[in-house]
Amino acid sequence: MPLRAKVASSVSRTAAALSRAAGRGDGSVIGGWIGLKIDPDLLAHLSAGRAIALVSGTNGKTTTTRLSAAAVGVLGRVATNSFGANMPTGHTSALAKAGSTPYAVLEVDEHYLAQVLEATEPHVVALLNLSRDQLDRAKEVAMMAQLWRAALVRHTNVRVVANADDPMVVWAATPPADPDRGINPPHVTWFSAGQRWHDDSWVCPECGSTIQRSGDQWWCTGCPLRRPEPHWVVEDEGVLDPTGAWHKVSLQLPGKVNLGNAATALAVAAEFGVRPVDAVSRLGIVTSVAGRYAQVDKDGRNIRLLLAKNPASWLEAFDMADEAPTLLSINARDPDGLDTSWLFDVDFAPLRGRQVLITGDRAYDLAVRLDVNDVPFQHVRTFEDAIRSVPPGRLEVIANYTAFQDIRAELDRVN
Ligand SMILES: [Zn+2]
Repeated sequence: MPLRAKVASSVSRTAAALSRAAGRGDGSVIGGWIGLKIDPDLLAHLSAGRAIALVSGTNGKTTTTRLSAAAVGVLGRVATNSFGANMPTGHTSALAKAGSTPYAVLEVDEHYLAQVLEATEPHVVALLNLSRDQLDRAKEVAMMAQLWRAALVRHTNVRVVANADDPMVVWAATPPADPDRGINPPHVTWFSAGQRWHDDSWVCPECGSTIQRSGDQWWCTGCPLRRPEPHWVVEDEGVLDPTGAWHKVSLQLPGKVNLGNAATALAVAAEFGVRPVDAVSRLGIVTSVAGRYAQVDKDGRNIRLLLAKNPASWLEAFDMADEAPTLLSINARDPDGLDTSWLFDVDFAPLRGRQVLITGDRAYDLAVRLDVNDVPFQHVRTFEDAIRSVPPGRLEVIANYTAFQDIRAELDRVN
C-alpha cells in the first residue's frame, strides 16, 4: 500500500478502537470516516490483493453476509463487516481492522453498490432482492434496479449471483450486451430463494407490461423477461447445487428465508472454488447475527428476537415466528424511516389466533392497522410489561430497527 494509505489505515483502526473504548458503539463508521478523510482512495487500496464478494439487497444482506463469510472461510481468513455498517465508511473500517486477509465478504447498502463496485473491484456480487423500504428516504424499487443495472454494465468482469425469483433483480442482473462498445453480459449464477412479497414486482421494469405468476414461475406478458432456470435451489431442508447434488443444511437460524440465504452463501462460496460439501457444515455454526434470531431466557419466558424493517421482511418474520404470544414494536426514529404508512402494506392476518402485544414509540399506528386488519391486541408500555403479560414459554418479538435495538439493550445487548 502507498504510505498515505498505510497511515490512513492505522489512524482508522485507532479511531475505531478509541470510539469502542469510549462506549460509543463499535466505532466502524467513525474509523472509516477518518481513514477516508486522510486517503479518499483508502477503500480501493485496502481492497487490492483481496478476493472480494459484495452482498446487496433490501432484505437478508446482514445474515447472508455472515453465512457467506462462514462458507468462504473454508479457504482462509475472511474480512467482513459483520455489524451491519454497510456503507463505504464501514467497509473501509472492516478491511483496515482485519489487516491483510486473502478474502473479504462485504454487506453493501443497495444505494452504494455502484460506488463500492468501483472501489473494491470484487470477484463476486450477490444480488438478493429489491422491495420498498423507508418510504421517506429510499429510492423507488424500479429506480434502484436501474442503478444496479447501470453499475453492472461498467463491471462486466464481476461474477453475479442473483435471485431468479425477483423480477427486479433478474432485470438488473441482465443488462443488454453491446459488443460494439465492448460490453458483454455479466456471468450470472441464479439461485432460487423464494419470494413471499410480490407487491413491488407486478410491472415489468423493461416494458411496463404486467408480470404474471404461476407456482414458482413468473413471466412478463409483453416482452421476453421471465424467470431464469436457477442453478441453486432450496429443496426440503437443504439445497440442490448446480450438479444436481442435494446438501442437507442444518441452520440454527429459523425460517425458509434463511435456507434461501444459505443457498446464496453456498453459491457465493462456489464462485471462489469452495465445494458445497465442504462449506455446508460451517453454516450451522452461525447462531444469531447482531442480536437477530437471538434467544434469551428471562422470568420463565424464552424470548426470541426477530428484526423486520419493511413489508417484505414482516411477512418473512410472521413465517419464522412460532404460533406463540408475539410482541410487535414499532419506532419511527431516523434509522427506521419517519413514515409508518408502510404498516398498511403488511397483512397481519397470519397473527390472528396468537396473543398479540404492541409497544414502541408508534404503537398507536400499529394499533390502528391491527384494528382495521381484525387482529386483537393489547398495548403494553414497556418490555417488562410485555414479559409479565404472557404465560411462561416462548415469546416472539418482532421489531423494527431502533425498537429492536431498544429491546436488545434491555436484554444486555444480546448477540
Ligand atoms: Zn416486459
